Amino acid sequence: MKTLKIAIQKSGRLNEKSVELLKNCGLSFENYKSSLISPVSNFPLEILFLRDDDIPEYVQDGIADLGIVGENVIQETEVAVSYLQRLGFGKCSLKIAVPNNNAIQHLDQLNGKAIATTYPVILGKFLKEKNIQADIRTISGSVEISPGLGLSDAICDLVSTGGTLKSNGLVPFADVMSSEAVLIGRKGSEDEELVKELIQRIQSVLRAKETKYVVLNVHTDNLSAIINLLPGVKSPSVVPLAEANWVAVHTVIPERDFWDKISQLKQAGAQGIVVMPIEKIIL
Ligand code: ATP
Ligand code: ZN
Repeated sequence: MKTLKIAIQKSGRLNEKSVELLKNCGLSFENYKSSLISPVSNFPLEILFLRDDDIPEYVQDGIADLGIVGENVIQETEVAVSYLQRLGFGKCSLKIAVPNNNAIQHLDQLNGKAIATTYPVILGKFLKEKNIQADIRTISGSVEISPGLGLSDAICDLVSTGGTLKSNGLVPFADVMSSEAVLIGRKGSEDEELVKELIQRIQSVLRAKETKYVVLNVHTDNLSAIINLLPGVKSPSVVPLAEANWVAVHTVIPERDFWDKISQLKQAGAQGIVVMPIEKIIL
């Protein structure tokens, strides 16, 4: 049987979450920091640990069948790969930022200015689209210190909380792209059975992360009001309690409107609400 290869970041911001996702998919492997390849003992898969910048090309060239990498890196390397699944972590934005004492307020004012970045391809396309002629200075790191050193008038860099910008006296000025970690595959790999199986496992883990399992007690007089509030995978399960006219309702609730729902349920007569994490949801 064929063994798939998946490339993930060796160390850095995406490493831990990538390893966690694969482990939550039930894959058993050693996470040796020193090795390049780790075999999975219970699935025909090998994990390649690489620098994130190399992952898109490895997948495009078929050295790895799959990869987990930020969309920003894929766009910058301009590879031909299939986007298989957004993964919901590694969220950040590529932004243009300017010194906070700078008079730049409109994109037009970037004309003729120097912008330092490690993302010349993405920035170049953005400026072209906006019809702005600026001087893109490609540097390999520590972009945020370049205006202070007099190397550029602005920067274009990844931002998540904005803390690094702030501590360097910079303010975000324009959004170039937003990014998150994605699963990519060699073109055509999405039709292979093993790849489909792995995507299904990943989706069941992601679905579970977005939902909570909730058990609550309610008097039968209030049951229909409670059921009307609940989405559930299908309809909720209703289990009789030892006390007459009381039932326990079991259901799942999406994380995003969780607190709203809980307060609505309480108002509708729910008591003893227990909330539990879900490991997997297989549809
Ligand atoms: P490598 O050594 O693998 O080349 P790196 O230094 O290029 O690592 P990291 O800083 O570990 O990369 O970031 C990896 C990815 O994490 C980025 O490409 C991006 O998709 C994502 N990311 C999320 N938040 C941030 C952030 N605040 N700054 C930079 N990257 C972020
Ligand atoms: Zn990198």
